[in-house]
Amino acid sequence: MHPLPRLASLLLALVPAAAGASLKVVTTTDGLAALARDVGGDRVAVTALSHGNQDPHFVDPNPNLAVKLRDADLLVDVGLDLEIGWLPPLVNQSRNAAIQPGNERRFTAASAVRVLDVPTGPVDRSLGDLHPAGNPHFLNDPRRAVEVAQALAAKLASLDPAGAAGYRARAADFARRIGAAEQRWLATLAPFRGQAIIAKHPTVTYLARWAGLRIVGYLEPKPGVEPPPSHLAEMVEVARAQKVRAILVETYYDTRTAALVARLSGARVCSLPGDVGASRTASGYEAYMDEVVKALAGALAP
Ligand SMILES: [Zn+2]
Repeated sequence: MHPLPRLASLLLALVPAAAGASLKVVTTTDGLAALARDVGGDRVAVTALSHGNQDPHFVDPNPNLAVKLRDADLLVDVGLDLEIGWLPPLVNQSRNAAIQPGNERRFTAASAVRVLDVPTGPVDRSLGDLHPAGNPHFLNDPRRAVEVAQALAAKLASLDPAGAAGYRARAADFARRIGAAEQRWLATLAPFRGQAIIAKHPTVTYLARWAGLRIVGYLEPKPGVEPPPSHLAEMVEVARAQKVRAILVETYYDTRTAALVARLSGARVCSLPGDVGASRTASGYEAYMDEVVKALAGALAP
């Protein structure tokens, strides 16, 4: 036997399974990338355009990111205009028509969940409101993460029918694992049910509803709008009156206003990982939620 083909076949056997992945999946955030890896297994190669320690509203639309989209088999975004400031130009630059909104190779996670904070009146984004179509920060509710994972599995199955059974099985396994973890998380947070909290931005709306916490104010008077001193003074009053123990701020935000309100009201600042990947240890969805719950429990304890 000629040594060269034998060597080639030996090397081929050493190539990791991901190198033979069927689908190139690009996601806008690390949280969506984690879900895609969970349900896609070794049939997908997943790349995220932003990272968990970045503010997802404002990502630098670097042309390198458009290159990643050029041969993407599927683009997964959050939707509800979260990425409107940076994703559309990248998709246009990529010249990959199939990943344009509404096309076959685009999956918008918001389509899989019930959306909160949908405005009932007119919204003017030019006034700084970042959530004109409803609140896009739904992945910190584990029930909604499972819904997204299941819908994503169905999308992957439609694009890659040969892997359909595997996607379904992995989505079911994810639902089982998160369902079990949810019991653990809710038990940890049970002593704090009904407690009042203040948050910097409505990133925690779904999380608070899931955990039974009462949001009594946001440091931003509108999503994305910096607070005037009068609003901060009001938040100090609210925090005192409602016995707020924690002011929640994602790690990608400046904490100065939160620290000021905390100092004047006797509350403490709770630094929350913004997404999967916000810290080295929050490497998958379950590990990320472990850290969120741990941070909440630590800040809400007397
Ligand atoms: Zn937002």
